[in-house]
Amino acid sequence: MTTENREGLIETAVRRMPKAEMHFHFEGAFRWSTVRELHPDGRALPEIPPWHGKPFENWEAFTAVFSQFLKPVTGKPEWIERHALEALEDLALQNVRYVELLVSHRFHAWRGLSEREVWEAVVRGRARAQAKHRIDAPLFLGVSRDQPPEAAEAIFEQIAEFAVPAGWLKGIDLQSDERARPNRDFARLYAKAAQLGLKLRAHAGEHGGAENVRDAVDLCGALHISHGTRAAEEPALVAYLARTGAWLHLCPSSNWLLGVCPSIAANPLRKLQDAGVRCTVNSDDPLLFATDTTREYLIATTEMGFSRSEIAGLAKNAFGASLLADRDIAEACAEIDRCLSTRKSP
Ligand SMILES: [Zn+2]
Repeated sequence: MTTENREGLIETAVRRMPKAEMHFHFEGAFRWSTVRELHPDGRALPEIPPWHGKPFENWEAFTAVFSQFLKPVTGKPEWIERHALEALEDLALQNVRYVELLVSHRFHAWRGLSEREVWEAVVRGRARAQAKHRIDAPLFLGVSRDQPPEAAEAIFEQIAEFAVPAGWLKGIDLQSDERARPNRDFARLYAKAAQLGLKLRAHAGEHGGAENVRDAVDLCGALHISHGTRAAEEPALVAYLARTGAWLHLCPSSNWLLGVCPSIAANPLRKLQDAGVRCTVNSDDPLLFATDTTREYLIATTEMGFSRSEIAGLAKNAFGASLLADRDIAEACAEIDRCLSTRKSP
């Protein structure tokens, strides 16, 4: 079989297999066509986003996309609802069956909406997507670390008060640039979330070093690390993560385009996985990194040399890391095996 044929078969199998997204920001998942439709300068915007295919110069260039292009197209209930519908539809069309949808606590409220109004709009959009597609999408609060810990705790408590009893809020994730404040500063926030029975996730090991990953696990109790890439710099930490059963939710395109890794091939995904750490691959912000969930798996095959069985392992890890019932996880894993089996071409 030629390389081209083999890659074609893997691509077909990857597209077909059920997938779970474990690192996915709602704010980074807008459709560009919708942005062009709703943005005040929409008519002047190019067909392809101007940043596509190029590494961001720095973190400021990355965040400028949110402020210039994306914030102007949110903040109204009907727009938020539409974005939620479209983001989940785009995932469902890739056969993503589960996503932990990270919702920023303030990005959508800037026109004066209350936090409750923002969450209600997301939930309406989710319900519309779920009426048409099979996709679980528990909501996670994305807490920004560019505010004092006390302020983060206050906003968390305000949202938890209505979103936990409603069954909307299932977990938290500390996000944004780690250089602003380390995870250890937010240990009390994590203790409060743990008391409410929420799933604990934290961004770490992206622009912060290995120590921030260790703190996320040890001081915040977060066994689910968004990125965790730079944990690879410290072999003792890698062994520790494998021992404690932590999960790393990596995003190869994001790491390359934000300068965390010099190339996709340089991503330590394989090194971490081979060391026994449970890893997944994810898209992070699909619109900003010109990617999607399927593409991240394909990149693992073409640029990192992952075999079919290794791809199956990554995909099964993602379901294993989910909040789904054991029965649903087993069903998804069996389907992944069927899709990627080498005995019969899919
Ligand atoms: Zn992220």
